[in-house]
Amino acid sequence: MKNLSCDALIIGAGLAGASSAYALARRGATVIVCEAAGDVAQRASGNRFGLMMPYLSDRPSTFEHLYSAGFSFSRSLLTGPLSSRNILRATGGVQLPTTPRLARLLESSTAIRAPLSVARLDAVQTADATGVPISSPSFHVPSAGYVSPPLFVGSMLSGASVRLGERVIDLRRSQSHWAVRLASGDTVQASYVVVSAAYESPCLTQLQWLPLEPIRGQTVSLSPSRISEKLRALVCFDGYLTPAEDGSHLLGAHYRHNDLRQLPCKEDTSEILQRCQRWLPELHLSPQSVQSSRVCFRTSTFDRLPYIGPVPDMTAMLAEAAAYQPGTDLLAKIGAPLEHDIFATVGHGSRGLLSCPIGGEIIARLIAKEPLAELEEIAAACSPLRLVGRILKRPQEREAGDARRT
Ligand SMILES: Cc1cc2nc3c(=O)[nH]c(=O)nc-3n(C[C@H](O)[C@H](O)[C@H](O)COP(=O)(O)OP(=O)(O)OC[C@H]3O[C@@H](n4cnc5c(N)ncnc54)[C@H](O)[C@@H]3O)c2cc1C
Repeated sequence: MKNLSCDALIIGAGLAGASSAYALARRGATVIVCEAAGDVAQRASGNRFGLMMPYLSDRPSTFEHLYSAGFSFSRSLLTGPLSSRNILRATGGVQLPTTPRLARLLESSTAIRAPLSVARLDAVQTADATGVPISSPSFHVPSAGYVSPPLFVGSMLSGASVRLGERVIDLRRSQSHWAVRLASGDTVQASYVVVSAAYESPCLTQLQWLPLEPIRGQTVSLSPSRISEKLRALVCFDGYLTPAEDGSHLLGAHYRHNDLRQLPCKEDTSEILQRCQRWLPELHLSPQSVQSSRVCFRTSTFDRLPYIGPVPDMTAMLAEAAAYQPGTDLLAKIGAPLEHDIFATVGHGSRGLLSCPIGGEIIARLIAKEPLAELEEIAAACSPLRLVGRILKRPQEREAGDARRT
């Protein structure tokens, strides 16, 4: 049995864990990343490609702010310090108006609050931008593209010591550090712990109260047709299609709640393909084009924003709350005590390529006690502390509140 030590122990080697490892190692911290699977990027971060497309909106919102800043942040990593790894396929991308919101936005002339430039194209211009016939107008985002998440994860882990096949099973706080127990029997002593174990994070006692939902997703690899092989830009509809690379397109992604099946299924493959055929009939992609499918799970939160930041000691707060009469303003009575030096970056949903890298930067600034500066608002909106008031309400008060709102 080994006893290891480091400044920061990170749980999970997906995009969230790798992003935190990168930001901490860059600041000179010694970092150990423990990954339960036999290799890095095996779960949600293991798809062949993922798209990097900003959230298009003409209104400011927390959602828009996080994903605009996240898009710029991830892109600056991929075109800056990590550019030599050729992770970003900078093809540009078009978004077709698949929802009433996008259709309204496309018809209006208001400015789009996206980072970098976005143009409105008619169908002829859309065909020109993508290299294939598409009979729909679109938004064109020249700075969009797609990346290999496993390659992104691998390059962000280069400054950390990665332990594969090592499940973290227990965390105990002693006076000055965390004692971390691994399933192998080894232990790690760490000043800080960062939990980035996606929907499995609540298996750890300190995060068992954290509400997270796994959402099944399926992607499909397709052989190109004689027309689709000319596609040279990412196309987003109510799915996405990448240009063919090594003889196959990636078509994504199915989205289903309350479904924990691990294996791909034919109905989901044909549903994603039908969406592609509806929006891109000219490409002649058919069921015969299907090469393979992959299933993995997004991790979603109640308000669709990730949890990034310090972890509150919810168990202590709930125990204290039990002593008060119903109707007491518990938030006013009980402060939010923080677990010492434990942070989470989880719940990155469908846009982890945009939110994980900026999330890692926020965690590293908090640990290094650097000013959050331009990230202050995003850090506040994504902090796990936003859950405290919601969880402190007793179940019957929460239900009464929900009923009043509906
Ligand atoms: C089908 C699909 C398509 C997607 N497409 C896109 C896209 O196009 N663009 C985009 O931006 N995002 C996309 N996403 C979302 C993106 O992939 C995720 O947001 C991102 O990968 C989440 O990374 P993560 O590190 O939080 O989770 P994961 O990659 O799941 O990593 C969590 C890791 O923690 C490990 N772990 C769990 N428990 C323990 C433990 N106790 N000890 C040690 N290790 C542990 C797991 O083995 C796992 O490797 C997609 C997601 C899905 C499912």
